[in-house]
Amino acid sequence: MAQLKPGVVTGNDYLTLVATAKTGGYALPAVNVSSSSTINAVLEAAAKNQADVIIQLSNGGAQFYAGQGIKDGNKAKTLGAVAAAQHIHLLAEHYGVCVALHTDHANKSLIPWVDSLLEHGEVFYKQNGKPLFSSHMLDLSEEPMEFNLGECARVLKRMAKLGMSLEIELGVTGGEEDGIGKEMDESADNSHLYTQPEDVLQAYERLSSIGHFSVAASFGNVHGVYKPGNVRLRPEILKNSQALIEQRHKTTTKPLNLVFHGGSGSEKDKIKDAVSYGVFKMNIDTDLQFAYSEAIGKFVTENPKAFLYQVDPETGKPYKKFYDPRKYLRSAEENMVVRLNEAFEDLGSKGKSLTL
Ligand SMILES: [Zn+2]
Repeated sequence: MAQLKPGVVTGNDYLTLVATAKTGGYALPAVNVSSSSTINAVLEAAAKNQADVIIQLSNGGAQFYAGQGIKDGNKAKTLGAVAAAQHIHLLAEHYGVCVALHTDHANKSLIPWVDSLLEHGEVFYKQNGKPLFSSHMLDLSEEPMEFNLGECARVLKRMAKLGMSLEIELGVTGGEEDGIGKEMDESADNSHLYTQPEDVLQAYERLSSIGHFSVAASFGNVHGVYKPGNVRLRPEILKNSQALIEQRHKTTTKPLNLVFHGGSGSEKDKIKDAVSYGVFKMNIDTDLQFAYSEAIGKFVTENPKAFLYQVDPETGKPYKKFYDPRKYLRSAEENMVVRLNEAFEDLGSKGKSLTL
């Protein structure tokens, strides 16, 4: 019997989604989106794979969704996230799968973004009896631990009242995302890319009594795809973090809800290991951006004249059905679905929708 109804899942349903993935030994892809086209491609892929999915917006993705024409960029970041969330709330159930709605990295300068999303979320909660988003993320991993956990505790208190979950980050994910972060220096000392299990324990002790949260722990994962360098994926860090908390607090197995950032281009066996250690969410952005653009590149290369002339100057052939943006954007969506088929397969979530 179906455990959950199709559509956006929040509150206890979200907890069920996370817990079932962990006990079932699979994870959900978390896909960054920035337009209705990319959102719909994710929904289509999830439906096709009979899999539940996580859709998320970075601040830049949200701003793009609202439109670059809005002069006040901060306002656009909030409005765009709200608009995309409403789009997904309306459409998700018609695709027949569960969709968790997240926002991605918010560093110290973006704390006001999260607070303003919560203002919208509180109004939405009053009207609908459920939150607008399933989870927000605070990434204060570049700040001192005390500030990181203090802010996470403050925001989680506010979110817990709405039945929302908070994603935090401990240790620095390498690479660049949304213009934040640095290009990888592959010859540098990269010890800061590995989270200490003691830090995870500290976060658990500080936050677990307040509300539901997940941890993006760094185990050599990087944002983006780079040529193989000296950053080695060490998913055993995740295993050790779980073990430390199990032992200290006599919890059941895998007490932490873990998130794998920078899933693009990762070795398949390391993905499997990470999932077996309690990763329920793997972020995948770069590979899907490439899949989307790759198809457009192919379309333009195959139909070059349609992007130069409305009517062929030699043959008189009209090119409308080639330069209509729906044509090449559709091929982009289709290629994004193909790459997502692989992600559902890698993460073991194909055919596992809780709506089945
Ligand atoms: Zn990330």
